Amino acid sequence: MLLHVRALTKAYRNTRNGLETWALNGLELDVYRQEFISIMGPSGSGKTTLLNILAGLDRPTSGELCLQGENMLALNADELALFRRRNLGFVFQDFNLLDTLTLAENVALPLSLDKRGGGDIRQRVDEMLHFLSLGEQMQRYPYEVSGGQQQRTAVARALIHRPRLLLADEPTGNLDSASARALLELFQQLNSQQQATILMVTHDPFSASYSQRVVFIKDGRVFCQLQRSSSQPQF
Ligand code: ADP
Ligand code: ADP
Repeated sequence: MLLHVRALTKAYRNTRNGLETWALNGLELDVYRQEFISIMGPSGSGKTTLLNILAGLDRPTSGELCLQGENMLALNADELALFRRRNLGFVFQDFNLLDTLTLAENVALPLSLDKRGGGDIRQRVDEMLHFLSLGEQMQRYPYEVSGGQQQRTAVARALIHRPRLLLADEPTGNLDSASARALLELFQQLNSQQQATILMVTHDPFSASYSQRVVFIKDGRVFCQLQRSSSQPQF
């Protein structure tokens, strides 16, 4: 098992009236290697809070969270930063590329933070961008390419250090439907051919239909799951 989440809670205190909001309320989730999972649920159900905690950007109020057998909640800030860089990749709704860097430089960023050799970086970035059909655009800047190409660049950057888990928050939210379909097909391909484990938050049933399992969250808890058998094209 890759990710093990038990009895996860998160309380936010409203600074004005002192009242607590329980964004997560005993959430339990297991993720196995090479799964492609969608998290769905109404607005305010805790999806963003869950993703932020899995990403190590926020800490739960209580519960257990193990990734790759490592208790993430026991790590100090430095250890957590290193653990995140080694094990996690992120894709957001709004791409988050640096406008002053070319697509290739954006993708190389996580590797340059890891102080690996320059030649090795160039080759890996080159291969990744070609795999994502961005070979022609790699020397361009983000504002010179389409939204779909920007999002594929963000995916390349999230995967270049071969993370154990890819976290995606509404990755198709800012894409037109053709680019969204291309991105979802890419996720499926990464999942089946490159053994990527993907956890995607989405409110779009069409996006979710690309994943193998859909986890529905309500009031900070999992209330139902749908598993798609591999022989069926969609559930
Ligand atoms: P979703 O992503 O499913 O829309 P969120 O995780 O953003 O849900 O929010 C879950 C609940 O927690 C909501 O009631 C939201 O208002 C509350 N919440 C989220 N973040 C904060 C915060 N930083 N401070 C206070 N309340 C928050
Ligand atoms: P999303 O587009 O993912 O649903 P939200 O609008 O739920 O995003 O939240 C955007 C940001 O605001 C998140 O970082 C979330 O933690 C924070 N947030 C959400 N609800 C509240 C709240 N009631 N009070 C303070 N911060 C909140």
